[in-house]
Amino acid sequence: MSCCDQTGLMTVEQALEKLLGAAKPTTEIETVPLMRALGRVLAADQQSPVAVPPADNSAMDGFALRFADTAADGETTLAISQRIPAGAVPAPLQAGSAARIFTGAEVPPGADTVVMQEQCRWDEHQVTIAAGIKADANIRPRGQDIEAGATVLCRGHRLKPQDLGLLASIGIAQIPVFRRLKVALLCTGDELVEPGQPLPPGHIYNSNRYTLAGQLQALGFECLDLGIVADSAAATEQALLKAAAEADCILTSGGVSVGEEDHVKACVDKLGSLDLWRMAIKPGKPLAFGQVRGTPFIGLPGNPASVFVTFAIAARPYLLKSQGASDYLPVPVPVTAGFARKHSPKRQEYLRARLVVDEQGTAQAELAGNQSSGVLSTASAGNGFVIHRLGEAINEGQTVPFLLFSELLF
Ligand code: AMP
Ligand code: MG
Repeated sequence: MSCCDQTGLMTVEQALEKLLGAAKPTTEIETVPLMRALGRVLAADQQSPVAVPPADNSAMDGFALRFADTAADGETTLAISQRIPAGAVPAPLQAGSAARIFTGAEVPPGADTVVMQEQCRWDEHQVTIAAGIKADANIRPRGQDIEAGATVLCRGHRLKPQDLGLLASIGIAQIPVFRRLKVALLCTGDELVEPGQPLPPGHIYNSNRYTLAGQLQALGFECLDLGIVADSAAATEQALLKAAAEADCILTSGGVSVGEEDHVKACVDKLGSLDLWRMAIKPGKPLAFGQVRGTPFIGLPGNPASVFVTFAIAARPYLLKSQGASDYLPVPVPVTAGFARKHSPKRQEYLRARLVVDEQGTAQAELAGNQSSGVLSTASAGNGFVIHRLGEAINEGQTVPFLLFSELLF
């Protein structure tokens, strides 16, 4: 394979480039109420029809006045000419007077300064203001947050809670988003039983189904859960055909290794086309990518930790790009390694780790424990991956890239 290095493995970057190159962003759009738009991908740029705030308003409870009416040194006493609570429409400020004003209330025309009430003494009729106030203080100007006509969010943006608030602040109630992609999920293996059932000899519980359905849901995809698929050509073919007919993408776990019980590869090859990549990733390695009757197909390995990692690193960006998202690549943060790994790996390792802040306030990553591909408990014990880069050792105290699970699960 020309894309691979001397070891015959494809680097994670090469695999991602291929996957992302093949991802075709959806163009199907629907309009949803803002309250249901969390996690959805924006289908059109959003311009603000209004300025936010719409008018100059007070940042404090206090008194609005003209700075020119105050003494250069010493106290100033002014008559109180109006009272402006939030929600009221103020009258123009009479010269030589002050307006009682509250936080969020519009500043009256003519006023240029708000004095906070802590600097004032007042009764019903007049206010005395301490010396040394500042011109233009405590006013939040019209458009401070958003100018009318400004683009607030772009097509491809995945909507977070603060984005919903931002859209609400410009008065938008319905929002165009891309239709949620439906991802079919198949877990292959004769050894699998569902939790809740007794565990017969020779069997294990199907954990990948829950890990993957959870990852899909966390990213906002619809999951077409096709359950356990037996290790036979007939069962695999039947499940793949159903998945191809009903879903936008097919995701499988297991059955893509080199064993004779691994039927997924042969079936996908027969019904569509398949590339089998040996990715330089650990845990992980075999990753199958292709199509079944035109529906994109991603075959993940079977081991539970490999599934968690290969989904997060390879399937996630592919699916998010297909969903129309623009921020599909996770951003690693530099942290200090609280451990050493002297060897230089031939496969890039995604180490289950925990980011802790030490007494000096430094973010330090500690290994979460056993890194074997069959061990899932350390994925739960950790809060992210330290990336142990291909061909590099890690020394204690060195800066290493860290991918927070919270970044990968959104
Ligand atoms: P395979 O690639 O099918 O040979 O699977 C590799 C390893 O992952 C085997 O030990 C399987 O038992 C295990 N495995 C496969 N699928 C699952 C699953 N859905 N849940 C838990 N373990 C699995
Ligand atoms: Mg299997």
